[in-house]
Amino acid sequence: MSECIFCRIGAGEIPSQLVYQDPAIIAFRDIHPQAPTHILIMPRKHIASLAELKTGDLPMVARMLAVANQIAQEQGLADGYRLVINTGSKAGQVVMHLHMHLLGGKQFSN
Ligand code: AMP
Ligand code: ZN
Repeated sequence: MSECIFCRIGAGEIPSQLVYQDPAIIAFRDIHPQAPTHILIMPRKHIASLAELKTGDLPMVARMLAVANQIAQEQGLADGYRLVINTGSKAGQVVMHLHMHLLGGKQFSN
């Protein structure tokens, strides 16, 4: 069994509030939302961070972006949303499994 919490969410071993899933990518609600809408989008495959990305992973990252936009439209964020990928501990990355934060539903000031 993987010790990576997001691998375990991807495998369905830990419950999450799923908003999207396909064979390669899943999206679920953040347990500590920083905005009215706060969804995490990630590959099921374990990649520690953007810094570990291989060239072969690029199509999957492009799909993550498309999925993020699709979810944003479905969640009523057509007027604006923010995507954040914390990369490395100095940037605040806590879970070392690549994921994108989709944040929206409020006015961002910076
Ligand atoms: P980061 O700081 O970019 O690594 O973000 C990790 C995010 O994962 C944080 O916003 C946490 O609130 C969120 N998180 C951690 N565990 C879970 C979980 N089991 N289900 C949903 N979100 C989680
Ligand atoms: Zn993982």
